[in-house]
Formats: sequence, structure tokens, C-alpha cells
Amino acid sequence: MKRVLITGAAGFIGSHLCDRFIKEGYHVIGMDNLITGNIKNIEHLFPLKNFEYYHHDITKFVHVPGQLDYILHFASPASPIDYLKMPIQTLKVGSLGTHNLLGLAKSKNARILIASTSEVYGDPLVHPQREDYWGNVNPIGPRGVYDEAKRFQEAITMAYHTFHGLETRIVRIFNTYGPRMRVEDGRVLPAFFSQAIRGEGLTVFGEGNQTRSFCYVDDLVEGIYRLLLSDYHMPVNIGNPSEITIIQFAHEILALVDNPKAHIIYNPLPIDDPKQRQPDITKAKEILGWMPKVDRSEGLLRTYEYFKTVVTRN
Ligand code: UDP
Repeated sequence: MKRVLITGAAGFIGSHLCDRFIKEGYHVIGMDNLITGNIKNIEHLFPLKNFEYYHHDITKFVHVPGQLDYILHFASPASPIDYLKMPIQTLKVGSLGTHNLLGLAKSKNARILIASTSEVYGDPLVHPQREDYWGNVNPIGPRGVYDEAKRFQEAITMAYHTFHGLETRIVRIFNTYGPRMRVEDGRVLPAFFSQAIRGEGLTVFGEGNQTRSFCYVDDLVEGIYRLLLSDYHMPVNIGNPSEITIIQFAHEILALVDNPKAHIIYNPLPIDDPKQRQPDITKAKEILGWMPKVDRSEGLLRTYEYFKTVVTRN
């Protein structure tokens, strides 16, 4: 049985990855320190013989006994309000944490896939974003702690590949949504769903003309799975190219939740908020034969089912 270590296992994406690797017949070791993760996301795996949970902060030396075939590094605060609250931890997990995992991968002769992000493109001057675009990042702005940690993470991962011949994979994840997103994580989708369900104002930042492209989590997981098993070591964008303005997005959620008390309110635009974002997924199509299958109306419906179970309607 192949053994895989997944960091950030109790998080939104990490927990879906645990489910997928269990389903594929792997022995899964999930690791988390629960600063943003939620143990409930993986509790259903605890009775399984081929699942183990380690409570650990990966910025400290990481020890895993026995053989490891793969490491998937998904530990990090990932929403803007989380990394504003935890700037130092965000920098440490992307740098020291990644270094520890690369060292572990080297000692176990394991292949490692690291979770990078569309944030490496910053507020992009090229649209849509291709992997060969180097980005427009403010290193000392509020988002710098996340963006630069992830850029460093890519740099050290490539260095381990080049210098040590380590098998590495880098996925650049664009906005992703689905069940198990944290209600209070401040990201646009949990914010809008919880506000709409509670009959409150949906907090549109700025005029809502900024764009994002939202990918359903099952599509993302499929892309990551294919990338891990591919022989391609350069960064690959995984995301859904269907782009929408934030104000349109608010209207879609209002229509779906259909709560007469819900409405739109406008709040100031955060500093360095990227104006537009859309992945160019040519590489993923060509190299992995991957493209997203779940369109936004279907994905939002499935996600709404989840939010109904965790937010009470007013
Ligand atoms: N946003 C918003 N209202 C909210 C939360 C976010 O209008 O309550 C906007 C935010 O300014 C950004 C977009 O929605 O332009 C996506 O924000 P999110 O925090 O989900 O992630 P980002 O893509 O910025 O990392």
C-alpha cells in the first residue's frame, strides 16, 4: 500500500485530498496543527485502518516513521483575513515548513507536491495568467506575507529539484470553493453565503468590479491528483477559467438563497486586492488532460447544501 503524507489535512482542500487518496486505496497520514483547520473535516476518517492523524506544527522538525511515497503540502493560512491575523505563521509555514517537508521528502525518497497559488501573480498585469508570467506582487503590503511565502516556497522547491534531483510538483491554485470552507474565514463565498442565509447585507468590497474565477473543489482535487502522478515538475495552474465580477457573484448567491431580507452593502476595497484573476489552463489541458467539469451553477448548489447545515437561516 502506498503511503502519502498530507499537511493541512483538516483544512478545506486538505480534507478533500485525504478523502480522495483514501478512496484510491492509499495509506493516508494527515497532519495539521488546527490553527485554521477543523478536525470535523476529517473525523469520519478516524475509524479507518489506513488513516492516521498527527497533530503537529510543520514549522518544527517533522518526523514520520516508515516509508513515504508522496507528500502533499497544503498547510497554510489561506484566506486574506487569516494571513492578516497570523502574518508570521503564514511566512513560517511557507518557508520553514516547506523546508522541513522537502528535507523529509529527500530522506524518504518521496515525491512532493506543494500547494502554490494564483497569488504568486499578485495584482496581475497580464490577463489571463499563464504560468510563465512572473507576477506583480507588493512584498511589504498586507498580502505580501502570503504571496512572498508562496513565491519562496516555489523557489526552494525548484532548488531541491535542481540541486538534489528531488521529484517535485507545483500546483498554482486559483480561487476554489465547496463544502467544508470555514464559515468565518472571510473569503467571499463563505461571507456571501452566510450573510444571505442569515438575511444580512452581502459585503461587496469596492464597487464589486474586481473579477475572480471560481473552481469547484472536486475539479481541483482531480487536477492535483493527475499532476502528482504526472512526470511534469514545472508549475501548473489549476482553476476554472469562468470569470465573474464580485457584484455579479453576489447577485448569483442572492438569487440562489432567495432570502428576502438579504441585500447588498458596499465596504471599502482592501489594500492590494487584485483587480482581475483568471487562469490560463492550456498547460493543464495539454499535460494532464484536465479541465473543470462542474460549472458554477451546479457547484454553488452543492455548496449551498453544505452551508445550510452550518449556518442558521433568519
Ligand atoms: N470580497 C468581497 N466581500 C467579502 C469578501 C471578499 O467583496 O466579504 C472580495 C475581495 O475584495 C476580492 C474577492 O471578493 O476582490 C475575493 O476575495 P477572497 O477573500 O475570497 O479571496 P482572494 O481571491 O482575494 O484571495
